[in-house]
Amino acid sequence: IGDHHAKDLVGDLFRKYQVKDYKSLPVVVHEHTTVYDAVVTMFLEDVGTLFVVRDEGVLVGVASRKDLLKVAIGQSNLHEVPVSVAMTRMPNITTIDLEATMYDAARKLIEAEVDSLPVVRCGSEQQLEVVGRITKTTVTRLVVELGSLRNV
Ligand code: ADP
Repeated sequence: IGDHHAKDLVGDLFRKYQVKDYKSLPVVVHEHTTVYDAVVTMFLEDVGTLFVVRDEGVLVGVASRKDLLKVAIGQSNLHEVPVSVAMTRMPNITTIDLEATMYDAARKLIEAEVDSLPVVRCGSEQQLEVVGRITKTTVTRLVVELGSLRNV
């Protein structure tokens, strides 16, 4: 089996799996949440990335571990600074549609060089509703699941 053909098979395989079946629950904070409370949420929810929303769950940004560390090593009071100061904002967020494939998601994670993608419901580009989360762990879990089919 040639290398080219093998890659074709893996691509076709990942295109059979859908984001809507593999997404995990999004961990969201409101844009007015303080950096302090955002850090606490990261620990309690055991995630590396928080999705920041406005009222009605509309996506406004993404805050990663390093975004929050950057504020933490500065002089600011973490109880006063809102998470929106630290986050990456829309429209600079790479999202993935609920109806997309796991291949699309994996490719976007690599191309955007990020750990996590907000899963959004297809709709207006301005008002994206966050309905889930795809991370590098989600993709790795699918690889393990596929690799272990033979053993079940
Ligand atoms: P970390 O910063 O902890 O290494 P990431 O590599 O995921 O985590 O994030 C790197 C930068 O990219 C951060 O500034 C973060 O706000 C931003 N980022 C994370 N996820 C996304 C995304 N889906 N779309 C756009 N920017 C993102």
